[in-house]
Amino acid sequence: MKKIFISSFLLLFVTFSSFAQKEKTQKAHYNTNKFRQLKQELPTPNSQHTASGAPGHEYTQQQVDYDIAVILDDENQRIYGEETITYHNNSNDVLTYLWIQLDQNMRAQNSKTPDIQQEKTNALYTPKRFASKFVENPFDGGFKIEYVKNIDGSNASYLINQTMMRLNLDTPLAPGEKHSFKIKWWYNINNHVEQGGRSGFEHFPTDGNNNYIIAQFYPRLAVYDNVDGWQNMQFWGRSEFALEFGNFNVAITTPKDHILGATGVLTNEKEVLTNTQLKRLEKARKSYDKPVIIVTQEEAEKAEKGRAKDTKTWKFYAENVRDFAFASSRKYIWDAMAVDINGKKVMAYSYYSKEGNPLWEKHSTRAVASTLKTYSKYTFDYPYHKAISVHARSIGMEYPMICFNFGRPKPDGTYSDRTKYRMLGVIIHEVGHNFFPMIINSDERQWTWMDEGLNSFVQILAQKEYDPNFPIRRGLPKSIVGYMRGDQSKIAPIMTQGDKVYQFGNNAYAKPAAGLYMLRQTIMGPELFDYAFKTYARRWKFKHPTPADFFRTMEDASAMDLDWFWRGWFYTTGSNDIGIKEVKKYYVTDKPTKRAEKMAKRYGITVDQLPPSLYLVSENSDEFSSDLKNKKTEDFSILKDYIEKNFSEEEQKTLKAPKYFYELTFEKPGDLVMPIIVEFEYEDGTKERKQYPAQIWRLNDKEVTKVFPASKAIKKITIDPDEETADVDLSNNSWPKNKETKFDKFKKKQIKG
Ligand SMILES: [Zn+2]
Repeated sequence: MKKIFISSFLLLFVTFSSFAQKEKTQKAHYNTNKFRQLKQELPTPNSQHTASGAPGHEYTQQQVDYDIAVILDDENQRIYGEETITYHNNSNDVLTYLWIQLDQNMRAQNSKTPDIQQEKTNALYTPKRFASKFVENPFDGGFKIEYVKNIDGSNASYLINQTMMRLNLDTPLAPGEKHSFKIKWWYNINNHVEQGGRSGFEHFPTDGNNNYIIAQFYPRLAVYDNVDGWQNMQFWGRSEFALEFGNFNVAITTPKDHILGATGVLTNEKEVLTNTQLKRLEKARKSYDKPVIIVTQEEAEKAEKGRAKDTKTWKFYAENVRDFAFASSRKYIWDAMAVDINGKKVMAYSYYSKEGNPLWEKHSTRAVASTLKTYSKYTFDYPYHKAISVHARSIGMEYPMICFNFGRPKPDGTYSDRTKYRMLGVIIHEVGHNFFPMIINSDERQWTWMDEGLNSFVQILAQKEYDPNFPIRRGLPKSIVGYMRGDQSKIAPIMTQGDKVYQFGNNAYAKPAAGLYMLRQTIMGPELFDYAFKTYARRWKFKHPTPADFFRTMEDASAMDLDWFWRGWFYTTGSNDIGIKEVKKYYVTDKPTKRAEKMAKRYGITVDQLPPSLYLVSENSDEFSSDLKNKKTEDFSILKDYIEKNFSEEEQKTLKAPKYFYELTFEKPGDLVMPIIVEFEYEDGTKERKQYPAQIWRLNDKEVTKVFPASKAIKKITIDPDEETADVDLSNNSWPKNKETKFDKFKKKQIKG
């Protein structure tokens, strides 16, 4: 009785003191544990953006319809436009003003974009560069607003702040109401080759023609929602756009000899196309295996020589799009083919000047068709009736149903493989943007990774499907390593607004794409990943998803807690470095080891009184070399005897027969947590892999130990042999250690210094 009392008191004491200890360490642990939940970072779910990551039952989104008429003035490179905007307030809020985006004002003479760029004097300036920088007045490409009127013709009240215009409403706009108003404007089109930009024109001195790729050409509504209120962050030129869906009626007047491609259904094709073109187009609508030429190179070259004085007006209707863009030139060759998207016909078009050939006629339209198929497979069936690729020098830019792409052979028509694959890469990428963000309409100005990152990831899959040997340039985990181990002061987390990141391409495209690739290939596996990714795409198709909606959906649809991954990969600049620190080989013995003796002593018994046991003894310990090194240990008969004694013959057939036991110690100098992928190479040359989930690090962020039983002796151990986890230092990834050459050491020093 007494004895029991004492021992339970002791037990209580031990429990109590260890509880206090535990609480203390857990408190410290809670703030830094890399597996703590992401809730504290994410916005609180609500009935519009739910905890599952899906749109909620009270989800609303504004609608904006546009009726636009523009004239393309080829002689002066100007656009004149007039539009009627109808704003539908579907929110539950009363609005007293509307914000309208005037993106071209980024090129206005009073633009602040040049003022915020840091600059130093250059070593030398070309006369042209010198003149444009110091002598000439800056190009004036801002919107000239002629009027903003109410629908009854009276003047509306408005204010312009840089790239944003506030329309002050005479009477507040109640939920469910709509408001129409008119804007008239014009602007000088920028030469995008000389002045840069996402749209503009290229001038061809040899034939005197221009190629117009026109976008952000009309005042367009900013987004209003319950996430940001009015999303009216200024357009500085880099971070792209946030837009509402709506229906567009657009009439574009061009010189009569122009060929034009645009967002939407061409509703007056009989008025603007020749009979020959219409006939060829009919043929293309039935051609699923190869493109049909609608305007030949010969016809385009002939058109280049003319200068029509007359005009014609192209009319388009686009339903449920977030934007509208077009391309126009008399230089265009045009080809088309039909694409079967699960029984629905979609047209793939390309418009290009002779300068793009022979590359463009071979690949562009085919690449469009293939991209639509692959993206449809990983998201949803492409919902629009067409997708266009337009050839434009040095540009890769996307709009609904239409995109502008670089990739030009040398003047003699020859081209390198690099030119070809870069062109295919940009076409696949920009056509892919139809899904992210044209349809899965995330806010580009705030979260560049949501469109560029997700798109760059699916781009990899689409490139491989177009050509299994496609050289993947960007987005694989191993190709992001250089960036991730670079100077930390020149890296920002992915979750940073686009205007504030250092290395835009790596931050917004490559790193998120590599992260998703890793999630699919290594962490979740394609089956779980693809379903969840598709769920996200379907939930947010024609809606406005936020980062939390993506993070939550990926977990909601897969039963995987990925908070550690989002936290590390998206919210920090940490990198992954996992190494193998120590490998100890053990043998099985039936002779009690010193550790067993110690344990027996603790219980107040002798080793003989321990139940019959097997023991593991390290080959490096003196125990092994003296007492335990006997024939039985070396020929593995101990385990054999044990098995024969304790299992029936039937049972023995299914048993494993490990001979060696390895105690592996993994170290993690890197900040990120990641799965440990281990490849064991046995002495007979065969290999085996084992992947430990990232959660192995949940209680010790620096070092973990595992025991691995093997039936054959291990010759070599390699961590992450296929470089799937963006491990930034491979020098600690093998056992026995790879001998470091002088050059390796030098290289490492360079990287770290
Ligand atoms: Zn992009």
